[in-house]
Amino acid sequence: MIQLYIPLNFLGVIYREIKQSLTDLDKMFTLMDREREVADAPGAQPLVGLAQPTVRFENVQFAYDPARPILKGISFEIPAGKTVAVVGPSGSGKSTLARLLFRFYDIQQGRITLAGQEIRDVTQASLRQAIGIVPQDTVLFNDTVAYNIAYGRPGASQAEIEEAARAARIHDFIAATPKGYATQVGERGLKLSGGEKQRVAIARTLLKNPPVLIFDEATSALDSANERAIQAELQSAARNRTTLLIAHRLSTVVDAHQILVMDAGQIVERGTHGELLALDGRYASMWALQQSGME
Ligand code: ADP
Ligand code: MG
Repeated sequence: MIQLYIPLNFLGVIYREIKQSLTDLDKMFTLMDREREVADAPGAQPLVGLAQPTVRFENVQFAYDPARPILKGISFEIPAGKTVAVVGPSGSGKSTLARLLFRFYDIQQGRITLAGQEIRDVTQASLRQAIGIVPQDTVLFNDTVAYNIAYGRPGASQAEIEEAARAARIHDFIAATPKGYATQVGERGLKLSGGEKQRVAIARTLLKNPPVLIFDEATSALDSANERAIQAELQSAARNRTTLLIAHRLSTVVDAHQILVMDAGQIVERGTHGELLALDGRYASMWALQQSGME
């Protein structure tokens, strides 16, 4: 099947997203010697109840800069084990949802809960342990490939690391380098392409195997053959896990339990793929455009 599509950002102003990986933002703050955006509340307890990790956004309002509101009252729920997809033009606030769920920033209004606990009340360590993110733009540590994959699950065996790398279709590439998994990557090591970094991030998340998953345009930098192969792995990882799926290609959201269409910091449509097609609004026209293969 030939899949033709146009990127969802075709309407948006093209802007370079600040090169920040969600996973490595902690380290960046350290590097930049900047004060952290968030801190554990006094007496914060670890997150509990992860057997039923429902995610809920309730009237969430957020701005990076107080003068410019980004999210203007976002409410939705991802029932435990289900997948909610988010689509919409570039700049509409999709990645911001991911960053807020991972608590890189605190919100100004509303509530975000995971398993019924407000995320700002629990320890950041336990929150981040529960969530795996494949960010839009991955920054790797200046360390070995093995370290970068095992980061989400320290102590993983070499066999487990390789299994994850195979699933993410990066094993053959790594195995072909002279030092294999001991290869240094990053500034002073092997420079990886966007797609290779993305596959390392996918391997990391598959290995971590957390109860909550965030895929932020997780396969956007891959060629279509790799994308199709990995998409199947991601779908199987998402099965029975609470998943926030931010998508650039609508064909990947068809089976989501609910699809949210964002525009300018608001949810403008929501429903299943079938419901949104029947609505014949924004989603339906995006779908028609992608199907028509105009690019
Ligand atoms: P999307 O993922 O839908 O393309 P984002 O959530 O990345 O959108 O961005 C939403 C808006 O927030 C955009 O206007 C973007 O310019 C702005 N933005 C994103 N990150 C930052 C940041 N770190 N500081 C200030 N503004 C930001
Ligand atoms: Mg984004």
